[in-house]
Amino acid sequence: MEYVKGVPLLRPYIDYDNQEFWLAHREEKLVFQKCTYCGKIIHRPKPMCPACLSTDMEWIESTGLGTIYSWTTFVYDRAAYPGIRVPYIVVLVEMSEGVRLVSNIEDVTSEEMYIGMPVEVFFDKVSDDLTLPKFRKRKVKK
Ligand SMILES: [Zn+2]
Repeated sequence: MEYVKGVPLLRPYIDYDNQEFWLAHREEKLVFQKCTYCGKIIHRPKPMCPACLSTDMEWIESTGLGTIYSWTTFVYDRAAYPGIRVPYIVVLVEMSEGVRLVSNIEDVTSEEMYIGMPVEVFFDKVSDDLTLPKFRKRKVKK
């Protein structure tokens, strides 16, 4: 994924509920919320479990493994995210924990993409204050 120099990337809005998720990336960890009452794993972060309405949550570290649930390729500058050079692929990954995560995949072309492709997370240190979880095709079956 190639960034356009001089164009600042939009930053995630970090709040009380999602700060653990975003700050864990700096330590190259992917974490999800888990309801300590019913055990449901939740993404995106929220203050209350959507299954049982408990507010008792803990953070668990993800395996980092998932499969492609869906994807799209951005090829037009005007439709692309500011500061990212086209073409790039946006993926919806179904994680082994059962939650889905929107991200990008690298080192794969659109022609190579398929639903169910095994992928693994890696961390892209975009700048001093922004590290993002991204995905690549899993090289070894895990
Ligand atoms: Zn719950």
